[in-house]
Amino acid sequence: MGYPDGRLKLEKYSLGVGDRFAHQAAAQLDACIKAEAAGTTVIPVWNKSNREHNIVGSEPSSVRAAADAAVKARGWNHQYCVDADHIGVATVDRFIEASDFFTLDVADWIGKHPPRGAVDAFLNRHKELVGRIQIDGIEEPLRIDREKASHAVSPYLTAVTEAARIYQHVAQQKGKGKFITEVSMDETASPQTPVELLLILAAISDAGIPIQTIAPKFTGRFNKGVDYVGSVEQFEKEFSDDLCVIAHAVKRYGLPENLKLSVHSGSDKFSIYASIRRSVRKFDAGVHVKTAGTTWLEELIGLAEAGGEGLKLAKEVYSEAHGHAPELCAPYASVIDIDPAKLPDPAQVNGWTSEQYTGALRHDQTNKLFNPHFRQLLHVGFKVAAKMGQRYIKQVEACEKEIARNVTTNLYDRHIEPIFLRA
Ligand SMILES: [Zn+2]
Repeated sequence: MGYPDGRLKLEKYSLGVGDRFAHQAAAQLDACIKAEAAGTTVIPVWNKSNREHNIVGSEPSSVRAAADAAVKARGWNHQYCVDADHIGVATVDRFIEASDFFTLDVADWIGKHPPRGAVDAFLNRHKELVGRIQIDGIEEPLRIDREKASHAVSPYLTAVTEAARIYQHVAQQKGKGKFITEVSMDETASPQTPVELLLILAAISDAGIPIQTIAPKFTGRFNKGVDYVGSVEQFEKEFSDDLCVIAHAVKRYGLPENLKLSVHSGSDKFSIYASIRRSVRKFDAGVHVKTAGTTWLEELIGLAEAGGEGLKLAKEVYSEAHGHAPELCAPYASVIDIDPAKLPDPAQVNGWTSEQYTGALRHDQTNKLFNPHFRQLLHVGFKVAAKMGQRYIKQVEACEKEIARNVTTNLYDRHIEPIFLRA
């Protein structure tokens, strides 16, 4: 569970799970237990961002409490973590105690001009990063001249400096080696190429950040809760090259040996799971896949499936979400694509059966009832349930059986099995 010297070390395969209302940790863990029974250890990492805490009105300690309780109840004897997801210096403090995994989000610093001379100093220090770079596993050597390398690394140096500042801030309070560090650059406009990733990793090493996971932005669209949009072939090439770059950087720059990619999947990127699985196997690499709190949608599905009061509440959530769509969508504008014309009218939804509601919401692309617009709106609509407070929680507790079954099945059948287990 750690390095020989006692530093915390993230295991090879891990899955980020979100649990908006802190009631499904055991059902989520059951999916990892199923994976274990099928022969593969997948570590659960409970992630919740500052934004989610603010919208729900929860504190990071509630994530820790739910995770600890689930692990104890199920007797899980492998690693598990609690991730302070997408934090910065301004937001990290309330996560220090409860978290042992920190995702340092420096996307906002990408593109800021580094101090004069910083780029030249970097390239003088790293002559090996100019010219022809041979990377094991990548057929064609990467080629980059000094001018291009300078343009490529310049937007990232300030971001890396900021990551170092957040890392030091956490390390001063928690102690070095007591937490896992991820650097995330996914919530930005343009994807990073493998060569950019290499430059970034060299800079991260220079800055002394012992990263164990890195979340670049990949090619294509990673909308919340729906499938990948983009070229799967291009994604696979890029993902596989990134794995090679990471292996290279670990050796060349002395980064932690278990450094791996973190895919901020936004959940449900079914069409690229095979690419991830193939590449990870080919290079015997590890991977962390963050899902996006779609467990909350399984709560709605379970409520709807239970019928009666549960279905009624699920309809009410939709009706409210529909009425407040612009404000609910605003914080997620860059990661959702909702066509308002394709959203069913709440009056119509109020007449739906359990089957119609779950059919529209559950991510089964073969089901004619499936409606990705309905799904995306509800995905960002958890604020509505948060506002209902105890009324929502009580109903979730009343429908626990239906919900738990959906939460576990969703994570295991639709994510863990295709990413980590499928032959
Ligand atoms: Zn992310």
